[in-house]
Amino acid sequence: MSDTDTDTRDPTSLRTPIVAVLGHVDHGKTSLLDKIRGSAVIEGEAGAITQHIGATAVPLDVVSSIAGDLVNPDDFDLPGLLFIDTPGHHSFTTLRSRGGALADIAILVVDVNDGFQPQTLEALDILKRSQTPFIVAANKIDTVPGWNANEDTPINATYESQTDRVTSRLDESLYKIIGNLSDEGFSADLYWRVQNFQRNVGVVPVSAMTGEGVPDLLAVMMGLSQRYMKEEMEIDVQGPGVGTVLEVKEEKGFGTTVDIVLYDGTIRADDTIVVGGQNDPIVTDVRALLQPRPLAEIRTESRFEQVDEVGAAAGIKVAAPDLGDAMAGAPVRVVRNRDVETVETEVQAELADIAVDTEEQGVVVKADTLGSLEAMADALEEAEVPIVRAEVGDVAPRDVSVASTAEDPKQQVILGFNVDVLDDAAHRAEVDDVTIFTDAVIYQVIEEYEEFVEEIERAQQ
Ligand code: GDP
Repeated sequence: MSDTDTDTRDPTSLRTPIVAVLGHVDHGKTSLLDKIRGSAVIEGEAGAITQHIGATAVPLDVVSSIAGDLVNPDDFDLPGLLFIDTPGHHSFTTLRSRGGALADIAILVVDVNDGFQPQTLEALDILKRSQTPFIVAANKIDTVPGWNANEDTPINATYESQTDRVTSRLDESLYKIIGNLSDEGFSADLYWRVQNFQRNVGVVPVSAMTGEGVPDLLAVMMGLSQRYMKEEMEIDVQGPGVGTVLEVKEEKGFGTTVDIVLYDGTIRADDTIVVGGQNDPIVTDVRALLQPRPLAEIRTESRFEQVDEVGAAAGIKVAAPDLGDAMAGAPVRVVRNRDVETVETEVQAELADIAVDTEEQGVVVKADTLGSLEAMADALEEAEVPIVRAEVGDVAPRDVSVASTAEDPKQQVILGFNVDVLDDAAHRAEVDDVTIFTDAVIYQVIEEYEEFVEEIERAQQ
């Protein structure tokens, strides 16, 4: 065991705020995360940033050395920022409105040239529903020259003194984004003009390529967390762990594992846990807690090293029997010294909160996480499309069976978001005349389906 076993725990009772990065494809989510990680590696002492499963922890001193004068570590008692690594589907669609959101805070990345796109709107919908505070990273400003990033003006200096920082060309793009946010019901402004980040969305001009604006972005996030979210970061340091499943994955030698983000308490290698499953909550015993091994140590052995315990906030892989039915986006709770039934009831209650209402007749819906399933269901409800079955997971033959029994041809349909179609399901769908629509954008799936319905209606006339 490495000596990190004992010191991964937060020394104070405040945990690291969990940050999700979302936005339209190609707007620069991955690049921005890479830039932050890269700067952290350059600025930090060796080993200062901890690689978690599915997340990267950037401690306060490293945030501060990247952000320079903008973040004085003495002003903060939150330990840093934990970035969820998988931008796009998983991180953003598992943001949840009830039963504990996965991310505490979000960065919505918008390409200054491209502006608002379908996934930007989708992300905004989710942020709105989950009431997650967020800031906008107006990215790729290196392509629109005109922001003086190196001005030594602290963020909380007189705001008027900062207006010279933007040229008219960039100004136009930024104001377009601010206008778009306002159309969606958010009050937004350039971040140095925002006095209250809880009421107003701050727009931070950045370049994930050159790194301009990254210090400001970090400073705004730290400030927002420290100022408005400190109470939510208070945790029960030694309490039974509470988390959310990020991904369900097969892992050689370990069977089905779940990657979780732990946001309260601890999880130990000898704990019994309850995990939200397709049918009933899964009660199982942890077989191993796995962390990524430092790259240099990986040879022929496992990519993982086992640890005895981790504390919030952390990303960790859990190997345990019977995880086959676990769902991304589902809750995970450690039982420890409590009644298993009580914990099962808690998990059930959380799941019921995000369950989708189904009808006698309707379409079949599949999605990659519970959060995205909920988002799909909401969008379909708005479009007045009834749902007969809603599940997390790839499109399987049994989904085709259900869809094929629909009386209305408009409902002999499977709508999938961020999922694959299993080979035998695709084959069966062809035989049974079931149509499958899948896409990585919810609006797109629904649009395609609506066109399909129109076609059928035209044919019927
Ligand atoms: P994602 O799909 O949102 O994760 O976007 P990526 O991070 O993969 O970026 C999409 C493309 O935009 C890539 O070719 C990046 O190199 C490019 N890109 C991202 N950020 C910037 C930026 O700040 N400036 C410029 N010029 N290109 C960028």
